[in-house]
Amino acid sequence: MISIAQSYAHTIMGVSRSGLDKALIVRKLWECCAIPSFLYGVEAMLISKTTIKKLEMVQSQVARVILQLPRSASKVSGFTDAGLVPIADRIKERTGLYAWDVVNKRKDSLLKDVFASVMRSGDDPWGVSVTRIGSIGAGQGLFVRRKAAAKRVLREDSIKNVRALKLEHTSLVCMPDPRVWFQLQDHVTDDSLSKLLNMVRVGDVGLVNRWPNDLGYSYKLCPVCLDQDEMFLLCEAHVLLACPATDFVRRSSGLLAYSESMRQGGIVAQNTILKAYLGGDGAGAAVLLKRAKTMRQGFDSWFQQVANL
Ligand SMILES: [Zn+2]
Repeated sequence: MISIAQSYAHTIMGVSRSGLDKALIVRKLWECCAIPSFLYGVEAMLISKTTIKKLEMVQSQVARVILQLPRSASKVSGFTDAGLVPIADRIKERTGLYAWDVVNKRKDSLLKDVFASVMRSGDDPWGVSVTRIGSIGAGQGLFVRRKAAAKRVLREDSIKNVRALKLEHTSLVCMPDPRVWFQLQDHVTDDSLSKLLNMVRVGDVGLVNRWPNDLGYSYKLCPVCLDQDEMFLLCEAHVLLACPATDFVRRSSGLLAYSESMRQGGIVAQNTILKAYLGGDGAGAAVLLKRAKTMRQGFDSWFQQVANL
């Protein structure tokens, strides 16, 4: 299963740009060719946690190609911005809906008898996982709901899991929720502005504030501000919204006016403002890519000042 997934991933990630958007092609091939192939029949199997973990890693590689993100970027962006359902949740949904079919639809009495026997035994690992899936969602059990409602409950559970995972990553503090869950977000293309936007959303622009660079340097505090005896934690929100290195860009692009309109004279955290600017305010793809242009100017200006220190 893992080797099939890896083989598909390598082939898909190697596709070259051929007039069509690479982000779209890679995602489409992953969803339509790779996933059905290596998850075939998974609903009736028990898959180990180790296998699921390895499959998640392969899917993360594909997501990073779709989003043009570095290896260091959080895998959560694959679930949010690339819209890929976590492998564990895909298996959970397939198993849950298969069990729903056996309970509610199948006329095959032999299959029903075997299923009932497995579930009655109480210690069959697959049966235990079906029981756990059947209890997802508040109120009535999954298998007594209508199928559409059962699907919705399983999908909401996946969203809840991704949200919980997102909260564990401090680098994702400025990442807004997707406009539509588990679909490629409409700002994602193979364009360089989309790449920058994805990098800011995932908090990994390469400010060298989390991991050392090739020369072994890393900054916890903004070096531009430190040079002026000011101490500010280095992060994307500081660079774009507060650092003197980007003052001109902020004033000339309307970013300062945007921040002030959010503050309305009060105090609003920089991360809250950046999260809104990155799409949390409901802005569509065209506006977000225009903002990415402003952010690129801001980061260029900051990197230039750091280089001149
Ligand atoms: Zn600064």
